[in-house]
Amino acid sequence: MNVPISRPLLGKTERKYVTDAITKGDISGAHGTYLKEFENSFAKFCGVRYVALVNSGTTALHVALASLDIKKGDEVIVPDLTMMATFFAVLYQGATPVTVDSEPDTGNIDPSLIERSITKRTKAIIVVHLYGHPADMDPIMKIAKKYKLRVIEDAAEAHGALYKGKRVGSIGDLGCFSFYSNKVITTGEGGAVISNNKALMERVNLIKNLSFGKKQKLMHESLGFKYQMTNLQAAVGAGQMTHVDNILKRKRAIGAYFLKHLSGIPEIELPLEKPYAWNVYWMFRIVLKGKLSGKRAQFMQKLAKRGVDTREDFVPFNQQKFAIKEGLAHPKLCPVAKSLGENGLYIPSGTDIAQKELAYVVEQVRAVVKEIVS
Ligand SMILES: *Cc1c(COP(=O)(O)O)cnc(C)c1O
Repeated sequence: MNVPISRPLLGKTERKYVTDAITKGDISGAHGTYLKEFENSFAKFCGVRYVALVNSGTTALHVALASLDIKKGDEVIVPDLTMMATFFAVLYQGATPVTVDSEPDTGNIDPSLIERSITKRTKAIIVVHLYGHPADMDPIMKIAKKYKLRVIEDAAEAHGALYKGKRVGSIGDLGCFSFYSNKVITTGEGGAVISNNKALMERVNLIKNLSFGKKQKLMHESLGFKYQMTNLQAAVGAGQMTHVDNILKRKRAIGAYFLKHLSGIPEIELPLEKPYAWNVYWMFRIVLKGKLSGKRAQFMQKLAKRGVDTREDFVPFNQQKFAIKEGLAHPKLCPVAKSLGENGLYIPSGTDIAQKELAYVVEQVRAVVKEIVS
């Protein structure tokens, strides 16, 4: 058996909507009913007033930072362990990312380490909800309020996850999502910025579409970007929203299955669910420890031979060679993120994974642990 790392769950409605968009010739980002429909359904789902659809999670983060006028000379707090797009967005604006280490259990930003990283130049905190588990927002929002900082949530891996009953992405000033094919909700490639702040979202909507002039279209209001989602992508997204409850149910069921059947292995640390969290288990990340610590390459190779696809955890910013070379990163900083990055990996957990594939993955993981440990 071959089990891929992720397959999206695409239904009949997605196909019907895309066909309809093509039939009508509504394929760009300029107009089309599915853009509106996806915008509305995603806003309702997240519990916010405004959604701006864009063409990736990376551009969502960039346009969010640009809308807050984050620029050269400004510092932005970013968790060291994340997908590098979070850092790239800060660098696109010429601002300086300041890294904060992870909590050892969730891997999310450690709120107790944020305050010491704040300087006079700090303008914003980016919070990342890793692997579908919400970061601890209350202490972070409290710090942001105290120092008058903006909070951007990178919720690219956590659509639908709840922090104390609130959808992630709706708690900070701006929330950013990705709809890449392996994300919880997908449009192939795509993204969104969400918020309840009207003025901020007007700015997001202006600059994500070339800042076209309000009175005279081609007299542009400011520097702008071309970050539009197309109506074709939105057709897929609107289709996904018709069965989003089922998608989340599937994600939770996959998480629960692995938690139950991979428990009791001393060399594997499993994800958890903090009392404040409702985890959507974007990807099922495990961390190797004890006798398996430092043996990730061997572990992944052996699983690959048995047809089980895996992915390494993120390489934290402070371990990125390009960033070290440019003097932006320092490999001795953020030791918790470094250790998680070196020992973490994902096992197949896409929304469309079959029950027999889940059972096969468990069987093979257990067999490989035995092979290496004994
Ligand atoms: C996927 C991801 C992104 C980037 O999204 P794209 O749509 O691939 O540009 C940003 N941040 C995190 C945490 C992600 O997982």
